[in-house]
Amino acid sequence: MTSLLIGVRNGKVVGLKLNIALSVVGAANQLKTVRIFNMRRLYLILGDQLDRDSLIFNDVDKKNDCFWMAEVNQESTHVWSHKQRIALFLSGMRHFSEELREKGLPLQYHFLEDQQFSDLAEALAHTITTEQPEEVWFVRPGDYRVFESLVNTCKQCDVPLKQLNDQHFLSTPQDFMQWAGDKKQLRLEYWYRELRKKYQILMEDDKTPLGGKWNYDESNRKSFKKEGPQDLPKTLSWPADKITQTVIALVNEKFPDHPGTLAELHWPVTQVQAQQALSRFFENCLENFGDYQDAMWMDEPFLNHSLISTAMNMKLLHPLQVIQTAELYHREKGAPLAAVEGFIRQILGWREYVRGLYWMHMPGWLDMNALEAKQNLPDFYWTGDTDMTCMSQSIKQTLTYGYAHHIQRLMVTGLFSLLYGIDPKQIHQWYLAVYVDAVEWVELPNTLGMSQYADNGIMASKPYVASGNYINKMSNYCKNCRFKPSEAVGENACPFTTLFWDFLDTHADTFKNNPRMGFMLKNLERKSATDIADIKAQAIKIRSLP
Ligand code: FAD
Ligand code: SF4
Repeated sequence: MTSLLIGVRNGKVVGLKLNIALSVVGAANQLKTVRIFNMRRLYLILGDQLDRDSLIFNDVDKKNDCFWMAEVNQESTHVWSHKQRIALFLSGMRHFSEELREKGLPLQYHFLEDQQFSDLAEALAHTITTEQPEEVWFVRPGDYRVFESLVNTCKQCDVPLKQLNDQHFLSTPQDFMQWAGDKKQLRLEYWYRELRKKYQILMEDDKTPLGGKWNYDESNRKSFKKEGPQDLPKTLSWPADKITQTVIALVNEKFPDHPGTLAELHWPVTQVQAQQALSRFFENCLENFGDYQDAMWMDEPFLNHSLISTAMNMKLLHPLQVIQTAELYHREKGAPLAAVEGFIRQILGWREYVRGLYWMHMPGWLDMNALEAKQNLPDFYWTGDTDMTCMSQSIKQTLTYGYAHHIQRLMVTGLFSLLYGIDPKQIHQWYLAVYVDAVEWVELPNTLGMSQYADNGIMASKPYVASGNYINKMSNYCKNCRFKPSEAVGENACPFTTLFWDFLDTHADTFKNNPRMGFMLKNLERKSATDIADIKAQAIKIRSLP
């Protein structure tokens, strides 16, 4: 076997051991190690797989195997990615690659500065052709698109590919399929209970949930009193180190017209920072998390939310550790059960559930459009420039931080899209682009399933629709808005309220047999033909605005 170790600094080769033809990868000013030999295994590590305990590290032969990480243009451009989303993944990857080097693991790292390859498939095909690995190993990627392209590349290059389970989830896609069996409806609640029992989370014994109830959802829907949220804890931010500074400069240079700014970066890029973010949440926010989970407030983007989705999705934080620590805070530190259960349900329940559904229904889910929504995404989704205060608040904070919390995503930007009738693919691409935590396995089911009902109820038993009155109840946005949430027609009519009635009227037939829509449809029946005609005329006006 021929073996070569080479270091490159400032474009110059250093530490050459054997002089044979080779390809050198890497950016200027970085020390890189490239191994060229008849390789045993090539281990792929993707940007959302920064997991120190991944199965991929279990059987490494440092002499004959090589790790592989690649930054490619397409991962930032296949949707018009927020600058913070790009920077976060690049910085996370570069920090992780440093850790691998410190551990003496052989690594081939392709830097974006080199612009050698446009996409992952091209980069991988190049490495396979040059290095001739006997096998390629990877952990299941978070995007079906990436999964398919890596599988196809290995096929075309005629190299066996071994897929490993992602240990950063508490169930596998196979577990979910098995549970699904031939059930007619796959509801979150029952999957969540399965996992509670399996991992013995918040349980009194094998069968009984702690406190006698599985779900404390109804006590988790408070809105703030008129003085608003009090004593909100500060968010953390970490001074940009050299790696992050380089990445920020790179993103500003390469993607100047992409949405968002890099002025404020609140997101952890290492495991240590992720732990600090988690502790901040447990110490300061958990207690109020449940009560105000669905509440919104002017100029308060974070409230009591945990801000750990990026860290979990990049695999810097393990969900079981997060869940077990939350339980400890209840059992040993007196955090309220409703808050702790509400938080755990998001992770052990929703997070695992959407992933199971994603792999069960891809790739077909992407093309579903059950309500035949065809409108183009209005331009203000990219600027926040609209008179609708709730939309402008939710979108502008998204552009500043790459973040909006769940209810803003579901019941403001998502609700507007559903009522307005935006083409599901366009709104899906928007969500995938603008949130720092966006990875398709979690974004797509939440958008096309929960929020847009494009899947005809795979995920939600009814569409999440409401008028402006819901937003008024859960926030103070309407008090700062020129529209009136209770009005459906006229100068001051709230677009949400107009479009809500228009939605019900348009889709009344589709939902007439859905018992969960009965109440709303009964209210629609009380409207006169003239009321409906006025609402329809106003809805047309709203949709014709730029
Ligand atoms: P918290 O409110 O503190 O919740 C704690 C954790 O629970 C989150 O970090 C997250 O890991 C998990 N969680 C909560 N709700 C969900 C959910 N519905 N599905 C899966 N996990 C959940 N989440 C993403 O991680 N990436 C996305 O791209 C994404 N896109 C979304 C798109 C839409 C239309 C909607 C309605 C929701 C989306 N979510 C997404 C889910 C949720 O909004 C975010 O996980 C949450 O807002 C992240 O903020 P946080 O960490 O402060 O969460
Ligand atoms: Fe949003 Fe309507 Fe309230 Fe204005 S009045 S903030 S548009 S819900």
